[in-house]
Amino acid sequence: MKAGLLEALRRGPDGSTHGYVLKGGKAILPGSREAKGADIFITADGFVGAVGARLPTPVQAAVIDVAGLLISPGFIDAHQHLDKTGTLKFAPNPSGTLQGARDAFAAYARRAPPGDVTARASRTMRRCLARGTTAIRSHVNVDKDAGFSGLEQLCRLRSLWADRLVLQLVAFMIPHPNQDLDWLEANIDAAVAQADVVGGTPAVAEDPDRYLDILFKAAARHDRPVDLHLDEHLNPERPLFDRVFERIRRHALQGKVVLSHASVLSALPRDHFERIRDDMAALDVGVITLPAANLYLQGRSHDVLPPRGLTRVAQLTRSGVAIATASDNIQDPFVPTGSGDMLEIARWTLLAGHLHASELDLAYSMITETPARLMGLKGYGIAPGARADLVVCDCADVETLVAGGPDHFVVLAKGRPISAPPLGWEEPALSA
Ligand SMILES: [Zn+2]
Repeated sequence: MKAGLLEALRRGPDGSTHGYVLKGGKAILPGSREAKGADIFITADGFVGAVGARLPTPVQAAVIDVAGLLISPGFIDAHQHLDKTGTLKFAPNPSGTLQGARDAFAAYARRAPPGDVTARASRTMRRCLARGTTAIRSHVNVDKDAGFSGLEQLCRLRSLWADRLVLQLVAFMIPHPNQDLDWLEANIDAAVAQADVVGGTPAVAEDPDRYLDILFKAAARHDRPVDLHLDEHLNPERPLFDRVFERIRRHALQGKVVLSHASVLSALPRDHFERIRDDMAALDVGVITLPAANLYLQGRSHDVLPPRGLTRVAQLTRSGVAIATASDNIQDPFVPTGSGDMLEIARWTLLAGHLHASELDLAYSMITETPARLMGLKGYGIAPGARADLVVCDCADVETLVAGGPDHFVVLAKGRPISAPPLGWEEPALSA
């Protein structure tokens, strides 16, 4: 029955040019993780026009029955590397370490054919969208090896895909080819002018103070947010949080900085962690955890009980720090796996981050409303004026959605059903 409803939705609103109403579904509305009965009117140009119980159908609008189906806003992947995705076969990383992956990709970037990023990134974006991801923030290397090629190709995809998927680009200013900070300083303005966000990886810089100044001054000059790969390691001797916090205060970037990974927090004593956590809360700093990369790359030098490399997911989220979860790398030397399914990432975050079963809804918020806020997405959620980027599925609630995923679902991108996996077969009816 529900599969039949989804099949009708997949075919679309029967050519109506006046929009359509999703009738009888259970929607996750802004500020709530509880499904509530609501009809949703979607305008002809792909926005939510109205939401409410027993909504009157606008004149000439079509009606699509979604009785009993769960309607979620599209999932958000707040941290990917679309310039690296799909390079696994071309950039082997036999050590399985973070440094091995960096070296493998740097060597690949020096010999990559022109236009190479476009094909690989498009494939991953298609797969993500088909699994319900309707917004992605991607870091893109800008350095002496990769130059501007990846950024320019992804800027074109950002425009081409604008009606299907919101793509936000981070100019990921990499220091490690020769630690040439003069090159970075000379090129950062051109990179940030094209990108949406300023990014970097301070733990890799031999002079992290000068490096952080280059990044933060550029963010202030261009009025851009900052997203750092911060302390993607487990060495308690060298956390860089205080140096970042000092620059947030100096440049008045409170509420505009996100720290990705923050793995070292798990290696610090509890009181040291709590002091950093309090500064994060005071400066409105968000965190993005990347379980796939941390589980795969960290702790490989340990023979016994290798540490898992995630940050303190449970303590951060329970103390009110905004924390999202994301894919990081998909099928490249950093992470050899990845399907683009954010429900899978939410599941791993719950398991590896030691959340409780009672926090399944929290894991859901980490791929929806929290990353939307951290990315500053405008018009996200099921509310009038928002883009009609939705996942309609046969789950009862967000807890079952995260726990096991749907059997059947349809993704709507700006109101249009996009190609989805086949809806499969109907179970034999029990009644007779
Ligand atoms: Zn990353």
